[in-house]
Amino acid sequence: MSLSRVASSIPASPTFALNEEARLLREKGEPVIHLGIGEPKNKTPITAILSSAAKLSSGDVKYVPVDGIPSLKKAIVRYSEENYDRIVSPLNVIVSDGAKQSLFNILFSICNPQDEVIVLAPYWVSYPDMIKMVGAVPVVVTPEDGTFIPSFEEIERAISQYTKGIIVNSPNNPSGMIYPEELVEKIVDLCERKGIYMICDDIYHKLVFDGKVAVPACKYTRKDIENSNVILVNGVAKLYGMTGFRIGWAIAPKKLVTVMTNVQSQTTSCVSLVMQAAAEGALTGNQSVVESLRLLIQNNRDVLMQELLSFSDVHCIRPQGTFYALPDFKAYCRNSVAKNSVELCQFLLKKALVVTVPGKEFGMEGHLRLSYAGTVKELTEGVERMKWALDPNAPNDIYIGDRKLVRDWL
Ligand code: PMP
Repeated sequence: MSLSRVASSIPASPTFALNEEARLLREKGEPVIHLGIGEPKNKTPITAILSSAAKLSSGDVKYVPVDGIPSLKKAIVRYSEENYDRIVSPLNVIVSDGAKQSLFNILFSICNPQDEVIVLAPYWVSYPDMIKMVGAVPVVVTPEDGTFIPSFEEIERAISQYTKGIIVNSPNNPSGMIYPEELVEKIVDLCERKGIYMICDDIYHKLVFDGKVAVPACKYTRKDIENSNVILVNGVAKLYGMTGFRIGWAIAPKKLVTVMTNVQSQTTSCVSLVMQAAAEGALTGNQSVVESLRLLIQNNRDVLMQELLSFSDVHCIRPQGTFYALPDFKAYCRNSVAKNSVELCQFLLKKALVVTVPGKEFGMEGHLRLSYAGTVKELTEGVERMKWALDPNAPNDIYIGDRKLVRDWL
């Protein structure tokens, strides 16, 4: 069969592939614990439900403006004023089907073939493949000092005459780290000096712990929105636990928003009115839902860190935000059980029925990404099962569901 070379080189999103595997196992009645999934378990905020239900029950759900309905765009403008202290107009905003589509549209709208886009490891799985899909080249910068934050010098060295942009995701999926304010300031300055875009994926910006803040890049731009190199991406998926509503947005100079709008008009036409109304309800409703979620997740982070402490040879840098941690499992990637993080992940799923995501997918081999967006019970039981499967110091047998299993491989 004749297929596009680029399209057929794109693998399935590993997180979605693992979700599917876990779903099928659960369907068979297997007591799977999902530490791979990137979505909070909270119910949709009531204001989002009411607002979308009102649109749905009007029976008048038709095409709407390509770049988003005016009332949602107004709510996004207010959100940026309140949270970013950034004055933007509705013409600087485009709503898309999730932050994922916002990011794709940005990359498609700024890149020419062979342009380079810098990605900072550890990075969100989809960035490199999205960059390849638009014909550009991902240039990965990996911190040489074993931390999760590349130094400014490492980032600067990656710039070439082909660099079109840098994607910065802080708080970071998968490491949970917040980039230091001075680094953010220096990257803004670098982008402005070199005339390249700084694409800020801020999807987790309020899910931060211990009183820390993720200082927005736009605080450091000396330029107004029309001349700024800083592009903001955000959405309702993570902050409000509204992953299934598929609403994200980008804030950028009008010229770029116009190009993105044309692209969107030729692909998805517009975003569903019902879903946009839900996002508007979330943004304009009671914001204590975000704080409740943040507190719950911070507590889960503490539980996970505590559990990991008792795991011989596992080291984990304490996450400062998001709902992910990226512990170092290298000690368990060099024996008969597993040679790398992909094999380790498969082993844990097969033996312990725990879903994790291999660090390799995020540019950090030897690590596993664990999500703590679920319940405390899942976290404690999940880590206990992992310990049983991997750590010779852990008890030899365990109950998984109603089955008593004996470890006979260590
Ligand atoms: N950026 C990052 C860093 C993410 O983790 C995700 C979701 N996993 C997205 C973007 C996409 O968000 P959405 O669901 O709004 O498409």
